[in-house]
Parts: sequence; structure tokens; C-alpha cells
Amino acid sequence: MLPREPARSPQLGYLYIPPYRVQGISIAGEQSVVQVPELDVAFDIGACPKPILTANYVALTHGHMDHAAALSYYFSQRNFQGIGVGTIVCHPELEQPIHNVMKAWTGLEAQKTPYNVIALPPGEQLEIKNNIYLRAVESVHTVPSLAYVVLEKRSKLRPDLVGQPQEKLVELKNSGEQITQTLEIPLVCYTGDTMWGELFDRPDVLGAKILITECTFLEPGHRGRASVGKHLHLDDIVKLLEKSTAEAVVLTHLSRRTHLGMVRKALEAAVPPEQLDRVFVLMDQRTNRRRFDQQLADAEAEAEAKADS
Ligand SMILES: [Zn+2]
Ligand SMILES: [Zn+2]
Repeated sequence: MLPREPARSPQLGYLYIPPYRVQGISIAGEQSVVQVPELDVAFDIGACPKPILTANYVALTHGHMDHAAALSYYFSQRNFQGIGVGTIVCHPELEQPIHNVMKAWTGLEAQKTPYNVIALPPGEQLEIKNNIYLRAVESVHTVPSLAYVVLEKRSKLRPDLVGQPQEKLVELKNSGEQITQTLEIPLVCYTGDTMWGELFDRPDVLGAKILITECTFLEPGHRGRASVGKHLHLDDIVKLLEKSTAEAVVLTHLSRRTHLGMVRKALEAAVPPEQLDRVFVLMDQRTNRRRFDQQLADAEAEAEAKADS
């Protein structure tokens, strides 16, 4: 008998939720890293597969190894590949520990890797692209932790001025009056590891177009384990689906022990059928592949129809 081949390392999960790609790997206790390339950000950096290097920002939710293990590698590879210095955004309590980690690597490698760390207190935000902001939101886990919301700020004419002639608006503006107001559009929320809490009452979390949330425990008997580890259980996701207006709710941080067939069964049993369409499991490669193939076929058919008309 020949020895068995080594187990394959997990592939990146991939979902296209127009106009955003959600890609990464997330397995509870092992590794979590989820990138939205269009927004220039990756959430967590528990591993650093090559595509992640293109993210100029990494929003770190907390310091557990499965979320933070590859932070030094991210900085070092970006430097090695000549991509430019990466930036990690983190809870203020993690800023010094990250400096300590990078300092330890300077000792190990006998060279310094350039890096940026930005501590973002809960409630504060940072502009990561033109008009696109990363906001830190308090979450509840066993260690200091943050969730993040990426939002777009759009300047819009004040509603009471809509329909006014252009000259009037110019006149008002020149007189120093504020004629616009800023709208905040939550695009993506990433909860990181968290238990149920005030986080899930916030309009920016509930209103995000894409809500990427952990769902560590699924089985009815695992409620207790979820609360000890300060994690979410599928029962929480059911509550969340009622409150959130997200077009897509992407589940991450499932345990490797839970077989994907079992995940689908548990979802079908717990989630009302009309809600199931907007629930995705990042690591359910087969279902997501099938969906993407359909998206490709639809796009092709649409292009053909256009060419014919
Ligand atoms: Zn974790
Ligand atoms: Zn954790």
C-alpha cells in the first residue's frame, strides 16, 4: 500500500455579489481572512494567500491566532513583492502588541520590514478610498475586539432645496449656506468573532448591503459552547436575518468539524425559506461555484442578446 497523499490546503472561498467580490478562507480556530478587493480591504489576516496581498488595508478584528497569525507575513511579502507598505487597522489595545511582533521579527530576520499600524477606537472611522470609510464598531468577544463597517459617503442636495433653480442654489452657496448633506451608505459589515449584542441594533450594521458574519456553532446542543466562547450560534443568525436588510448574509468561521452537507441541512431547518436565498456560506465551494457558473452563463447570454439587438 502506498502512503496517502497529503490533505489539500483549503481553497479561497469566492462569492460575487455585484459589484463586490468576497473572497477568502475562514475556518473557526484555524484561519480567517476575507477580502473585498473593490474596497481595498481584507478583514483579518489569519493566513495570507497571495490574492490578499493586494489589499492596502487589513482590518483586524482581534488578536486570536486564527485571525492575526499572518500579519507579519503580509507586511513582509508586500515589501518583497514591491507592492508598497501595507496598513493594519486594529483595536487600540492591539497597537503595541503588533509593534512588539514586528520588533521580534526584526531580531529574527536581522532586517526591518516596513509596516503601518493604525489604532481605530470604536466609533471612529478612517478614509481608505475616495469617499469610502472604514468604521470600527464595538463587538463582544473574549478579548478586545472590533467589528467593521465600510461605508460610502455621498454628498446630496438638501431635500428642502430639491427643484430650486440653479441660480438660487449658487446664491445660497455663495452666501455661505450649507446646501448639501452627507449621506452614509453602509456597503459591507464584517462582524469578526462576537456574541450577540448591541452591535446588532446598529443601523450601519443592519443596513449594510453585504453582511459578513461569523456563525461558529450550528447544532442545537451547542448553544452553551457558543456563549462560553462568546460566539454566534445559528439561532442568532436567524434573529439577525429578521433585522438585517442585507442583500447577502455571508456566513464565515464555521468549524471544520461541521460537514458542509450538515450546514446546508441545519440552515434549511432553521432559516425561513424566503430568507434562504440571501444566506451564503463562504467556504461552501461547490454551491458557490455552481452559483458563479450561473452568473457567468447569465452574463454571456446578456452580452449575446445585446450583440443581437
Ligand atoms: Zn476565531
Ligand atoms: Zn476569536
